[in-house]
This record gives sequence, C-alpha cells and structure tokens, in this order.
Amino acid sequence: MLGEGIIKGLLETARNFVGSYVSKERLTTVQYPEERWEAPEASRTFPFLVYDGDEWLAGLRCTSCQICEKECPPKCIYIEKSADKKPDAVGKMQFYPTRFDIDISVCMSCQICVEVCPFDSIKMDRIFELSTDDRFEGLILDRQKLAKSNSYYHQIHPTEAAEVDAALASERAAAAAKAKAAAEAVAAKAAAAKAAAENAAPAGGGA
Ligand code: SF4
Ligand code: SF4
Repeated sequence: MLGEGIIKGLLETARNFVGSYVSKERLTTVQYPEERWEAPEASRTFPFLVYDGDEWLAGLRCTSCQICEKECPPKCIYIEKSADKKPDAVGKMQFYPTRFDIDISVCMSCQICVEVCPFDSIKMDRIFELSTDDRFEGLILDRQKLAKSNSYYHQIHPTEAAEVDAALASERAAAAAKAKAAAEAVAAKAAAAKAAAENAAPAGGGA
C-alpha cells in the first residue's frame, strides 16, 4: 500500500513518544549531571596505558615500540624511548617510555593505537568528563596520568580484559616452556661433551 512505510514509521515514533512517559526503557535521555547513564562496556573515549601490579612505572606494559605513535591518524601521541630496559608483562626485558603524552584535544577516539599495539599496553577508557579551562597543557595527558591499573581495565571492560589476561598468561607459559627447553638442551649438550671427553681420555691414566 502506498505510504505504508511512512505510517509505520510515524506509529513507531508515536509509540516511543507516548511510551517515554510511562516506560523507563523508552526514555532515551537523563537529567545530566544529576543523573548519570551507565555507559555500555564497549563504549570508548580516550586511550590509557595499562600497568600490572601496584607500581605504575614498573608495571607499565608499554615497550615504547612507537607503532601507535606512527599509526595515530592525527599524530597526537608523543613518545620518547628509555636508554635502559625493564621486564615487560611477560617478563622479557624491554625498553619503556620515558615520555608518553597524548593530546586528547586532538585525539579522535578512533582506537587505532589500541588495534596496532602488539603488547596490549594501550586501551580505551570510558571517562568523558575531562573538560578544563587550561587550553594549552590541560588536555595533554602524560604517562603518569595515562597509566591505569589492570584492575581498572577489568572494571571498565571486564570481557575484553579477561581475554587479554588469558592471552598474556598463555604467552608467559610459552616463554617459560621455551626457556626450560633451552636450559635442558644446554645441560644435555654439556653432559654429552663431558661424556665424550671422558671416553676420549686414555684408560688407566697413561702407562
Ligand atoms: S584513539 Fe586514534 S586519535 Fe586517539 S591516540 Fe589513539 S590512534 Fe590517535
Ligand atoms: S602503547 Fe603499544 S604500540 Fe604504543 S609504544 Fe607502547 S607498546 Fe608500542
């Protein structure tokens, strides 16, 4: 029937309009800031840096590889690499950032930095109340401001954080198994060399 789609659309609009007075599910607005809406788990605002344990600097997962800095479309990440190394999330010695700034006045929340990070070091936050009257430095977040614990990550994105933890645990197990196999191979080689030396030595101590 001609105009059937338009009538259906108008009826749906009317249903939602009237329904919003009686049904909370149809109420799509809240009286912010007095009322706050619980953002869905998948919502995202700006990036943050994940750290493990209690010490933010020691636990930073970031290895300062600078991939995110290169891939960020508006170029709002600024990283400087350390001269020394510290253990990363899987225990491997890695560089870390002595400077890691993100200018969130430029960041467009695209999440590309998160997608390209090979170390699960950078994730998207859900905090959005970041306005400031300092237009120069106020929206540049340094590594300490960006650093947030893995428990915080679990709090805001529980499903994703659990998947990352499982992947890191399996990487750690694989690294430990590899190290053990390497140590066993070295020990076996040393034992074989010792046995060969003993066999090659003249019996009876040289008559
Ligand atoms: S979310 Fe996008 S724009 Fe923002 S820092 Fe990451 S890559 Fe850059
Ligand atoms: S956040 Fe990830 S991609 Fe960016 S420098 Fe650190 S380890 Fe590399």
